Amino acid sequence: MKLIDGNKIAADIIAELKADVALLPGRKPCLALIRVGDDPASVSYVKKKEKTAAEIGIISRVILPSVAITQTELFALIDQLNADPDVDGILVQSPLPQPIDELQVFRRIAPCKDVDGLGTMNLGKVAQDDDSGFISCTPAGIMELLARSGVDLKGRHVVVLGRSLLVGKPVALLVLQKKTGANGTVTVCHSQTANLPAITRQADVLIAAIGRAEFVTAAMVKPGAVVIDVGINRVPDAAKKTGYRLTGDVHFPTVAPLARLITPVPGGVGPMTVAMLMKNTLKAYRLTHRGD
Ligand code: NAP
Repeated sequence: MKLIDGNKIAADIIAELKADVALLPGRKPCLALIRVGDDPASVSYVKKKEKTAAEIGIISRVILPSVAITQTELFALIDQLNADPDVDGILVQSPLPQPIDELQVFRRIAPCKDVDGLGTMNLGKVAQDDDSGFISCTPAGIMELLARSGVDLKGRHVVVLGRSLLVGKPVALLVLQKKTGANGTVTVCHSQTANLPAITRQADVLIAAIGRAEFVTAAMVKPGAVVIDVGINRVPDAAKKTGYRLTGDVHFPTVAPLARLITPVPGGVGPMTVAMLMKNTLKAYRLTHRGD
């Protein structure tokens, strides 16, 4: 078994982006980060994004509206950022408090600033094998991890666990694309899938994104498979200062010895998500500064 070191790969990408940003004349790329409420995971994700942006030289503008913000007010804030020429990318941190309709919020972001890639236009471009838009960050990070680990998906059976808009569906579309490194054969599973272990055992590459701590056990994995663990789950642990430990969707101690390559949690897909957000922000900047 070999570990796919997401921290190292993300650090390489961040260093590449830092070098690119240093060469830009004038105003640096700017990312607006909107966080509504105090969900602890969201607080830590936004902090990490802010810190990574600073490291690269990307300006971040963190906006913390009241948890009582209405959908109409949030739309108005997004409209203002859409029209602001000093803002290149906009990210609204999920989850949003009820009754705000998250999908409508993602759709409100101008496609050319939708660096999280969750709006209709950018998701549609992924389905059309069109590279001109923004690929959502976690699926893009998974593809980059595989590419930089020398995994060619051509002809491989890739089983995706989870069908969310954030991870499962877009990663399945990326694996299907007619492109170098992709061209996989995909099975997407979800909570209604029957005989799940029989399907996962067929996977040459297994991508787990279900949000169920240590759900994937050794009995569900083919020896020699590549295992990508997207899950981030907080499991109560009295021995930890925080009172919890982070774990993935894969039972790492028993699956790792079987796998050819595997991502750890933390330190696998998570850092890649942030790195790809920064990459998308630089791309957004370049889209509007072509002549500079
Ligand atoms: P989500 O929106 O809750 O979707 C979960 C998916 O898993 C759904 O499609 C669900 O099926 C399926 N599922 C749930 N239980 C299942 C089961 N027992 N068997 C088979 N399928 C099952 O979650 P998400 O946003 O995709 O996130 C998934 C995990 O990835 C979470 O732990 C999240 O924290 C993590 N995540 C990590 C990153 C990162 O940067 N590393 C980024 C995003 C998410 P149904 O559709 O039938 O309900």
